[in-house]
Amino acid sequence: MKFGGTSMGSAERIRVAAGICAAERRKRPVVAVVSAMSKITDLLLDTLRRAETGDQAGMDSNLSRLQERHVETCRELLPPEKQEAVLAGIHSLISDFQRIANGVLMLGERPPRSVDEAVAIGERLSAMLMASYLESTGVRSVAVSGADIIVTDAVFGNASPLMGPTREKARRDLLPWIEGGVLAVVTGFNGSAADGRPTTLGRGGSDFSASILAAVLDASELWIWTDVDGILTADPRLVPDAAVLGEVTYSEAAELAYNGAKVLHPRTLAPLIEKQIPVWSKNSFALDKPGTRIVSKTDSPGGPRAVTSMASVALISIESESSALSTNQLLARAMDAMARTSVEVLVLTNSSYRQNFCFLVRKDELPVALSALESELSLELAHGYVRPIEVDQNVGLLAIVGEGMRGTPGIAGRVFTAISREHINIIAIAQGSSELTIAVVVHRDGLEKAVRAVHAECRMAERAHRAE
Ligand code: ASP
Ligand code: MG
Repeated sequence: MKFGGTSMGSAERIRVAAGICAAERRKRPVVAVVSAMSKITDLLLDTLRRAETGDQAGMDSNLSRLQERHVETCRELLPPEKQEAVLAGIHSLISDFQRIANGVLMLGERPPRSVDEAVAIGERLSAMLMASYLESTGVRSVAVSGADIIVTDAVFGNASPLMGPTREKARRDLLPWIEGGVLAVVTGFNGSAADGRPTTLGRGGSDFSASILAAVLDASELWIWTDVDGILTADPRLVPDAAVLGEVTYSEAAELAYNGAKVLHPRTLAPLIEKQIPVWSKNSFALDKPGTRIVSKTDSPGGPRAVTSMASVALISIESESSALSTNQLLARAMDAMARTSVEVLVLTNSSYRQNFCFLVRKDELPVALSALESELSLELAHGYVRPIEVDQNVGLLAIVGEGMRGTPGIAGRVFTAISREHINIIAIAQGSSELTIAVVVHRDGLEKAVRAVHAECRMAERAHRAE
């Protein structure tokens, strides 16, 4: 059972989360994985940024907010006689954080490994609160640091798990709790490198922590609790009649996550596919709703099932000016430059005659992408073999996802017609050969309209309702 930040966001929410675990635990063993309380990771990161710039006042006011939020939650959550020990635990974790923040303040620098050690504290606080609450209600429980179980590479801020060593540690240090009937509450988001240095799995990484643990513990199911009813046909803020999908495949869910659906961290599903561990995406604010089941195969007839969008993206175009530099060479070098950074290339298309290609990146990764490209191609740019790199920040991405669209002719045509009917300019198109996703880059102003047009044209809501 994994609980996201909003599902851990207050004493009341923690009670609900604990109740869900306790109820399920009467039927079978449960491990809980928790995010930090909502907005806490942002607050911790902001505190470290302020420390780096020497903003002591900002740092101190953040620290008091951190303290107040957890102290208040503790007082609301626990009976008076249990509060003292937990309050001491809260203070001790916060002073650990403060020690690192002070180091950053002194250095005027935020070393990535210190950042990871510091932000892990958000999850350690929430796990402690949840385990203490469970204990106070008579459920034997223990808070476990993910750093003691999940072994990762040393890519601070965005680490990847080493599954073999993680399995060993989980079997050795986590399984005995489970077998002893103790409900372990594991901190999401954090791990540690083989040499023990703390790491984190990237923003939103608690989902990933949960799937890693589900895989190494051979769990029968993974339930991911959020504040939405499951995986929807579209973002309900853009499309009011968006419907919950009863079932989606791992591939569909992964494509949706990758293309901007916020419900799951994109890396979550990979560890589960091999063992075919089913995942439920459920709403902890609406316990009567069934949620979405993610499995390897569904009965759904093929075709477009959901549409996602990303607004904060930028399109980078590169064009060769000289026949001495082929598109292939240019493409290879540009992608090689991207591979050396952590920048994700979201969509890539090329047109061969004009020796031009373009690709989409997240706006916040644009500066890193451009500096990598400019340094890789510095000579060619200086001598005019490559035209100045063009960037269009006024674009948005929409992605239409559905297993088996290949078997249904005419979908691309319908999608493009629906978008053009709204007078929205299509800038670039990409469809993988799996035909699981059609990605369309449009002018930013038309993005929301395009999402609604495609959702209606493909009758996604009706199809989702019918499938139920
Ligand atoms: N607390 C972390 C974050 O906000 C991890 C998570 O919530 O999944 O990114
Ligand atoms: Mg999350």
